[in-house]
Amino acid sequence: MAEEPPTRRIVPLKIVTDQAFRESTPLWRGFLRRALRQTQEQFDPVALDFRIEEEAYWEPSDPSLPFSVLLSEVQASVPNEGRILVALVGATDRPAEPDLLGYALLGRPYLIVETHSADLFAQTLTHELGHVFGLPHLPGRHVMANRAADRTAEFDVLSLDVLLATRTMDFSHNTPFSECDLHRLKDVYLAWAERGNGKASLLSNLGVAFRREGDAVSAAACLKAALAMEDEFAEAWFHMARVQEDLGDEMAATLAYERYLSLEEAGRFSDRARSSQQRLMGSP
Ligand SMILES: [Zn+2]
Repeated sequence: MAEEPPTRRIVPLKIVTDQAFRESTPLWRGFLRRALRQTQEQFDPVALDFRIEEEAYWEPSDPSLPFSVLLSEVQASVPNEGRILVALVGATDRPAEPDLLGYALLGRPYLIVETHSADLFAQTLTHELGHVFGLPHLPGRHVMANRAADRTAEFDVLSLDVLLATRTMDFSHNTPFSECDLHRLKDVYLAWAERGNGKASLLSNLGVAFRREGDAVSAAACLKAALAMEDEFAEAWFHMARVQEDLGDEMAATLAYERYLSLEEAGRFSDRARSSQQRLMGSP
């Protein structure tokens, strides 16, 4: 039976520009609106409408820094206020990443795109928004191809399935895959993992989301797949340990905490891992 078409969702955007972008792209608002219309067409099958709700200015400390660093600067200085934060910067030589046209955080509402020709700009915007909605790089020729030269204007079928699962994503807090269809996501992410595609961090975040919903079995399946892809993924070992505790498997939990601590002696979760481990081993 065919699925009911989803009701349209308006996705609020907050546009943050630097001076180099505004100067290199005269009439940049019109330029941006045209690009968004092109992007909009690719998201039409999942009934998402992007709407610019706010604008802000921001200046990078050094425009030649890698995109990831620039994006953390934006994050630190401009609140996203429940919207997708779209940072637009002038084209500059970035020695660390000469071929990159933009960058986004996977499954999180932050992306950055630099100025280029209108078509390439629209294509990059679509690609980075795909990352925001939980799409990794995928082999083949479509929007989510790793190399810009391989990108086409359309999402492949499984990518559209992910977008149907994440189109309801709530951007107002920092929890991964909030308000998303987790089971639908799991099906596609596990299928990708089996083919050696996909991304361990997305599977780990999905595991965390399942655990938050109290579904430890699905959480364990996602974390197991993440760790099969990336055995030294410290954070995923920590989450796996907590899920094993939920499942009542103290032995597996202890081993997973041990594995986490062997990879990250002084990491974000190290203190918690050590005290959980001591509790499980029954020592004071
Ligand atoms: Zn990408």
